[in-house]
Order: sequence, then structure tokens, then C-alpha cells
Amino acid sequence: MAHVLVTGGTGFLGSHTIARLLASGHKVTTTLRSLKRQPDVEKMLSKADAPWRERVSYVEADLTSDAGWDQAAAGVDYVLHIASPFPGSHPRDENELIIPARDGARRVLRAARDADVRRVVLTSSFAAVGYGHGPTDRVFSEADWTSLDGPGVTPYIKSKAVAERAAWDFIAAEGKGLELTTINPVGIFGPVLGPDYSSSIRIIHAMLTGTMRAAPPIWTNTVDVRDAADLHIKAMTSPDAAGQRYLALAGEPISFQQIALTLRSQLGEAAAKAPTRSAPAWLLRLLSTVSPQLRDTVPQLGVVRRASNAKAREQLGWAPRSNEESVVASARSLVRLGLLAD
Ligand code: NAP
Repeated sequence: MAHVLVTGGTGFLGSHTIARLLASGHKVTTTLRSLKRQPDVEKMLSKADAPWRERVSYVEADLTSDAGWDQAAAGVDYVLHIASPFPGSHPRDENELIIPARDGARRVLRAARDADVRRVVLTSSFAAVGYGHGPTDRVFSEADWTSLDGPGVTPYIKSKAVAERAAWDFIAAEGKGLELTTINPVGIFGPVLGPDYSSSIRIIHAMLTGTMRAAPPIWTNTVDVRDAADLHIKAMTSPDAAGQRYLALAGEPISFQQIALTLRSQLGEAAAKAPTRSAPAWLLRLLSTVSPQLRDTVPQLGVVRRASNAKAREQLGWAPRSNEESVVASARSLVRLGLLAD
């Protein structure tokens, strides 16, 4: 049994990861911005049927402050640094995301190093790999980095790329033997455990509630949250994983239209409002001139980004679920938990 610190226990990936660590027999400390959220995490762990829930301890720590991080890392073998701001809308200032993501990663690494932690696994993102390159046919791998000055780099994408760079720089300059591995997931789907679900699930929510009346010509890659959590845990202990990045994705990209059709065919009546029509790119471009919300989607229209999961499969024996399985699991969980009312 290892003692693992998971940052961001209230999060979609954070809560699933805690549940899977407990099921594997580990002891967990998790950080929350406010300890008032402890009952919410306990409820999510119960929904996930996590065993040994009394083996979780809670520490208050915010990525924007030094307070709490040394306490959180004390006596810990491994850190899974998952917390990072992931809002559903644009911040007024990009630094609202970049500063907590970057400085928070440094705080966590510093606390881990000072507590003699063996390895930190940091949740980065495909956002740090495959953006800002313009149209390309190539299949992205762990060797790629997002180009911060390129087209379509939103504040969130920037925050993930800058934070991952800062983490590798910290390890090189002041890591003193601390090991780092990054997991770079694409869009995370799969079952939600409560009402505070991640921004990635909003696509499924919008389809099921009929808010998305027509599917835009957008392609996404997916990974199931349970598989992303398992990959973090595999990367935590595998000797091969030290100093490595791993892309976390199910396989081929899937279009919003394919997602809507999958939901309709698998959920029947519950997905009756999922769009059957597609929205033409020219119309979305036109509407984006008056809708700031649509403006962000314009650089993504018609862009298909392919990436490879071969490294995680081959080095870590990872076998993820399909795109269809994870989007259907998200939809079923939203229905089951009664989360479709606004
Ligand atoms: P989420 O549910 O929004 O979780 C984000 C977590 O980060 C929450 O626990 C949140 O705490 C915490 N957090 C945010 N700002 C913080 C701060 N200043 N101090 C301390 N904690 C803070 O999103 P998620 O999908 O689980 O994301 C988890 C990780 O995966 C993030 O690093 C995200 O960038 C990465 N990721 C997500 C996706 C995706 O599609 N979902 C794809 C690739 C990578 P509160 O609950 O207090 O806000």
C-alpha cells in the first residue's frame, strides 16, 4: 500500500482517481480549496462505490497560495497533481488560468521534493501537445508541443502548455532527483459522480437537453475518466514512466454529429433532443461575429486532430475503452443522477 496525494479531490478526474486508488488498496490524502467541500467528495466516492473511504484525509490548499502544500505532501510516496482551473467560459484575463496552473504546479513540485516524494504524475493535457499548428495531417505524439503563438490557442490551452513546461523546467533545475511523469488527456468523458462535473461533459449535457440544436462540424478525441485515472496510477509506479509524457486517448477522433447519433441509438427516448442536423461552418462563422461564445469554436471548425495512444499501450499495458462507451457512460450518468434540469 502506498500513500498518495491527489490534488483537486472535488474534480471529475480527481474524484474518480481517488476511488480507483482506494480500490487498489492505497491510502489517499487529497487537497480541496475549501474543507467545506469534503462532504461532496465523500458523496462522489460513495457513488463510485469506492471501498475504504475512511482511508482518505483532506487538507485545505489552493494553487494560488503556499499554505497547506507542505502539510499535504508530508509522508506521501507519490503525488498525482490533477488540480488546475478548467472553466467553461473565457476568463477576462488569461492570467486567471495561467498563474494558478503554472505557479500551482511549481508549488506542488516544491512541496513534493521537500517531502522526499518518489514521483509526481502531473495531469497535463493534449492542450499542451496538439494546438497552434494550423491544419495538419500528421498524427500527434508525445514528442509534440503546442505552439503558443499559433492560431486557436485559448487561455485554457495556454495555461496547460505553460504549466507543463514549467513543471519540466522545475525538475531539470531544482528537482534534486524527484521524478516527473505527465499524462496528456484529450477530452475526458465517462460517468459523472455528482453535479459539479467537468466542462468537457457540457457537450453531452447540451446534446441531451436540446441546447445544441445542430451539431457543429467539430471533431474531438475522447478518453474515459476511468481509463485516464488508471493511466495515472500505472504511470505512478512503472519504472519506465519516469521522465515521460503519455497521451491519453481512446483512438480515432469522433465528430459531434457521430456523438449525437451514438447517444440517440444507445439512449433512445432520453436522447430524443440530441441534434440530427449539422450546422454549416459558414453559418457558425457568421454567427461568431456577434457571439463571443461561438468565436472560440471557429478555429476548431472542420479540424481533425489525430493522435497516437501507442506509447501508453505499449509501455504501460493500458487498454482504454472506446469513444462510444465513454460518451454513452457520461449521458447515462447525467440521466441517472437527474442532472439534466437547468
Ligand atoms: P474539474 O472537474 O473542473 O476539476 C478541476 C479541479 O481543479 C477541481 O478539483 C478544482 O477545484 C481544482 N482547482 C481549480 N482551480 C484551483 C485552484 N486555484 N486551487 C486548487 N484547486 C483548484 O476538471 P477535470 O476534467 O477533472 O480536470 C482535471 C485535470 O484534467 C485538470 O488538470 C484539467 O486541465 C485536465 N484535463 C481535463 C480534460 C477534460 O476534458 N476534462 C482534458 C485534458 C486535461 P474546485 O472544485 O474547488 O473548483
